[in-house]
Amino acid sequence: MSFENLGLSAELLRAVTDQGYTEPTPIQAQAIPVVLEGRDLMGGAQTGTGKTAGFTLPLLQLLSIHANTSTSPAKHPVRALILTPTRELAAQVEESVQTYGKYLPLKSTVVFGGVNIKEQIAALKGGVEILVATPGRLLDHVEQKTVNLSKVEILVLDEADRMLDMGFLPDIKRIIALLPAKRQNLLFSATFAGEIKKLSDQLLTDPVLIEV
Ligand code: AMP
Repeated sequence: MSFENLGLSAELLRAVTDQGYTEPTPIQAQAIPVVLEGRDLMGGAQTGTGKTAGFTLPLLQLLSIHANTSTSPAKHPVRALILTPTRELAAQVEESVQTYGKYLPLKSTVVFGGVNIKEQIAALKGGVEILVATPGRLLDHVEQKTVNLSKVEILVLDEADRMLDMGFLPDIKRIIALLPAKRQNLLFSATFAGEIKKLSDQLLTDPVLIEV
């Protein structure tokens, strides 16, 4: 299996080559075609499996098909929302989005708690297509009306089991209620039991299940 066979664009293949990756990891080989098809996905994968590129690469490709090159911030609504349990993971995921998306005209930023909100507000004002966030701080931005989620096309819950362990379920539900009903959902979790099963049943439509 090679990255060339997965249906990724030249811009993304170049970014992958720049990283020195020679072949996709198992989760990438399985997840990338599924996400590119627009399907919902339930991914069972731990950190270290390459799951971040597994959802970031196809997400970037889907958004790039209708990328808006206007410089007006209003033309750059949030189209992909990636929720993570911790600020460390949020920062890592945002870095991956930047790395893999460096040849594409898409902007991203990250918002998490414990730091001053002002710089985050300024970044959001500039217009970003991809927003990586921890749930609590995202809701702070929602309350301050510094982010609009009404144009989100793709939702990713990364390490969903950890988010539930940390008590984020009510926040996640509040966030989901703000999103358009018609969207693609990707859920990654190390376990599929209990509360995660319940959440995935509510959230995912006819999902493809991938376990590595
Ligand atoms: P993740 O599981 O997403 O946290 O990724 C774990 C590590 O694997 C990261 O440091 C990535 O840069 C690296 N990685 C991701 N995909 C590949 C690949 N196809 N080949 C080699 N390394 C990779």
